[in-house]
Amino acid sequence: MKCQGCLKTSEKEFCPKCRKRLFDGRKVSGHLLFDSPYDGDSTFYTDHTQKISISGVQVKYSLKLEGNELQLTESGGQYILKPIPTGTFKNLGAAPANEHLTMQIAEQVYKFTSPATAIVFFKDGSHAYLVRRFDQRPEGGKYQQEDFAQIAQMTSESHGKNYKYDLSYQEIADLIRKYIPTHLIELEKFFRLVLFNYIFSNGDAHLKNFSAIQTTQGDHILTPIYDLLCTRIHAPTESDMALSLFKDDFTDAYMAYGFYTYQDFLTFGRQIGIKELRVEKIIQKFKINHELTGSIIEYSYLSEELKSDYMGIYLDKLIRLEMI
Ligand SMILES: [Zn+2]
Repeated sequence: MKCQGCLKTSEKEFCPKCRKRLFDGRKVSGHLLFDSPYDGDSTFYTDHTQKISISGVQVKYSLKLEGNELQLTESGGQYILKPIPTGTFKNLGAAPANEHLTMQIAEQVYKFTSPATAIVFFKDGSHAYLVRRFDQRPEGGKYQQEDFAQIAQMTSESHGKNYKYDLSYQEIADLIRKYIPTHLIELEKFFRLVLFNYIFSNGDAHLKNFSAIQTTQGDHILTPIYDLLCTRIHAPTESDMALSLFKDDFTDAYMAYGFYTYQDFLTFGRQIGIKELRVEKIIQKFKINHELTGSIIEYSYLSEELKSDYMGIYLDKLIRLEMI
């Protein structure tokens, strides 16, 4: 069988490494003792939990460990549980598997700092995406965290209902330079994440999906990654990226092809203040490891058909970037 966390071969539901990262080593079952919110008794959910956030069509629940058991909770949640969303997008039944897969690729192949993630199953057999919160202090309480809409002081009141989409990635980089002392390191992290979102067709990487978090030393860095998925699987006609790369104009290459190419990312990297040689090196690293990515897709919880779609969408972007 495979580990429900890292998708590698495992004798148990969770390999020892994932059990440690997810549950501090406790023997927790990957099968929950309650039904999914749609098939089960809905009052059970309203009695036991508060919806902590509704972004679009995704409802999230808060869980905590009681002994060796994951339970719904109103306060003190250590985990976020995202069941299958409702709505009119395509293939929504595969959304938890898609997010889990994309987060695992980002962590295992591209070495992004990531929270522990897993697939868990409800009593009725449907699956959900589980992520361990990264904002909890070990001694209790939370690390202070702000997304880039908050940092830019943009709200629906001040900038209208599309405020999350009102800046470019270049402008987020300007904010990183302004507010984060270690911006030389954080700008490279940000650049890699923008490139990752493009390659894996995450068209929902808007202002609220990038955040800064306070460290134990009191300064701020970018948070571990979150909310990454190949949105193209669910919205085949959406634009390639949630925000444009540049504040003002498009490159000649973009005007010629109608989509971002290697040249755009090279220019973007330079414009946000990373040395050209360094940008080239970072992009170069994205050219390797297609086989590893392929094998993680193969072991994911997507259906065979969607595995093939996911791979196709990924390869398409690699061709655009002249990476294969
Ligand atoms: Zn594992």
